[in-house]
Amino acid sequence: MTPPIIRKRSALRDLATRWKRSGETVGVVPTMGALHQGHLSLVRAAKKECDRVIVTVFVNPKQFNSPEDYENYPRTEEEDARKLTPFEVDAVYAPDGAEIYPDGFATTVSVSGLTDALCGVHRPGHFDGVATVVTKLFTQSMADRAYFGEKDYQQLQVVTRLSADLDLGTAVVPCPTIREEDGLAMSSRNLLLSDRARTWAPELNRAMEEMADGLLRGGDFETLKTEAISRIDRAGFTEVEYLELRSADTLELLQTADRPARLLAAAWLAGVRLIDNIAVG
Ligand code: AMP
Repeated sequence: MTPPIIRKRSALRDLATRWKRSGETVGVVPTMGALHQGHLSLVRAAKKECDRVIVTVFVNPKQFNSPEDYENYPRTEEEDARKLTPFEVDAVYAPDGAEIYPDGFATTVSVSGLTDALCGVHRPGHFDGVATVVTKLFTQSMADRAYFGEKDYQQLQVVTRLSADLDLGTAVVPCPTIREEDGLAMSSRNLLLSDRARTWAPELNRAMEEMADGLLRGGDFETLKTEAISRIDRAGFTEVEYLELRSADTLELLQTADRPARLLAAAWLAGVRLIDNIAVG
């Protein structure tokens, strides 16, 4: 059976309250839909660790920088429900915009520091949109645990910080990035790539892996970065927005991987913005 779909926050609250009163743990998996194996890996982790699992599907207008990007974002609700069926989740929460942002909505949750770099610079307002919706989803679902992918590494750090700072009582659980066989990180945005562009896309990850190897062998950061960017350019990407080495926890900028570090990149391919990150060391 496909999972029950809940549209109203009051109905979600009622369910969660009932579960919590009977001592059950609640896990939430926030998504924007167009589900793939990356999302489903979070659902699998949540099912293992929680008595009740809610998957949220909400294409959050506040985290998009451009109206076209919001309009073009893939929406596949029926297919999503079908993909979730074997997991036997307890509910899919798929509210509409007015349910999350009713008339007069005027509050923004903003995390400073962690959002000053990377996607925070290139997508102004994006993380405020993420932080605001995630705060609402955590409180509406009363979740004990929330499952997020390392695929969106900066987002993972931002929501971990915000849940701790605001005493939301929801533990953020990181889950590894799931990739296609050719190394491309799974993403709903991959659906927007033409067949040709799809064959070029894995070069982003390959260039990053090569750069990470070079860094671990003691290579010079700037030299390796130049080589990686030219490999990505040659593959057909039109722009590398950033390619940076940062500490794994605070996202402090690094030149050498002298502590747990992450190599993070964003690049444009055929009008689609792809992001990826890998551990270094
Ligand atoms: P999205 O629907 O893109 O907002 O993603 C919803 C959640 O799924 C976020 O926590 C993402 O980090 C996670 N996610 C997306 N792609 C992947 C992937 N390839 N591997 C693991 N988690 C992912």
